[in-house]
Amino acid sequence: MKVIEHIQQAKDTLISFEILPPLKGKSIQSIYDHLDPLMEFKPSFINVTYHRSEQVFKKKADGSFEKVEVRKRPGTVGICAALMNHYHIDTVPHLICGGFNKRETEDALIDLHFLGVDNVLVLRGDAAKNETFFEPETNGNAYAIDLLKQVMDLNQGVYLEDDIREGFRTNFCIGVAGYPEKHFEAPNLQTDLAYVKAKVDAGAEYIVTQMFFDNQKYFAFMQACRDAGINIPIIPGLKPITNKKQLAVIPRTFHVDIPTELSLEIMKCKVDADVEKVGIEWLVEQSKELKKAGVPVLHYYTLGKPRVIRDSVRQLF
Ligand code: FAD
Repeated sequence: MKVIEHIQQAKDTLISFEILPPLKGKSIQSIYDHLDPLMEFKPSFINVTYHRSEQVFKKKADGSFEKVEVRKRPGTVGICAALMNHYHIDTVPHLICGGFNKRETEDALIDLHFLGVDNVLVLRGDAAKNETFFEPETNGNAYAIDLLKQVMDLNQGVYLEDDIREGFRTNFCIGVAGYPEKHFEAPNLQTDLAYVKAKVDAGAEYIVTQMFFDNQKYFAFMQACRDAGINIPIIPGLKPITNKKQLAVIPRTFHVDIPTELSLEIMKCKVDADVEKVGIEWLVEQSKELKKAGVPVLHYYTLGKPRVIRDSVRQLF
């Protein structure tokens, strides 16, 4: 079932989770162990992130180094199918432009369609670790909107090979990302919003936000979207803080602010177990306020912390 159908049929705020594929070498059981504690909340869907390969230098026997491409977290498509089979739940694979050409993307979309996956979240992806700026692949998509248009084409039965006539039409529900605190490369929020609006006009059916720790930023973003004529559901993305290091890591990685009140509380903590308590409390308060405001879905970035998410979400129901 499509994410948009879940939202349209819901009587109350829904719950969804996002997971990362395990590092190469780990089994699918590690995903089940991660998700089992969260299934009591009957999530409506589970997002599975997508990861490009990285260039690493491997030392050779003669002491010289060789540059090799390594994909550390493969498996998004397979994990989605496994979760649908194991939990009978809808999944949302992420698809990214970075590191993939259009043919590889089309093949992934065909696999997803054959497997019965009804949803995709389309994203540009970040610059490769060895690059300063994002560079699309040769014959790849440059922005999320280009990838979105490729999925829309397939939904119309238009494949890359123009000799395929009356190709089978896929029927993906497409989500896109939005940034309450602006995407870090955008010169200002209005410009960023204009590009979000373009994604919506091109066929996106809902937005999932980057994490935020101050609900006022989400409410302001909602209003700015509505003022810009963006009227699709905006799903808030939420994450708990669980250790002190994240006070520096989260702003640097995700380009979001940590409110003063929260950072002061965390700085007072002596051990990470105390930080976790503060993080849970903050997440519960954020979630309660958002639920009260009638958000369509509370979407949790679980990022290796299913127990923390479980302890938080239990306090909402
Ligand atoms: P875009 O919408 O393409 O925007 C990128 C930047 O370009 C923005 O600054 C925008 O303002 C600007 N822009 C957009 N269109 C144009 C245009 N036509 N011309 C000029 N400028 C333009 N990354 C992963 O690698 N894997 C994941 O699974 C993943 N999941 C994510 C899930 C969510 C909910 C979010 C919020 C992010 C996720 N990311 C993921 C990170 C994401 O890939 C990065 O934030 C990336 O830098 C931007 O992706 P986007 O889809 O928002 O890009």
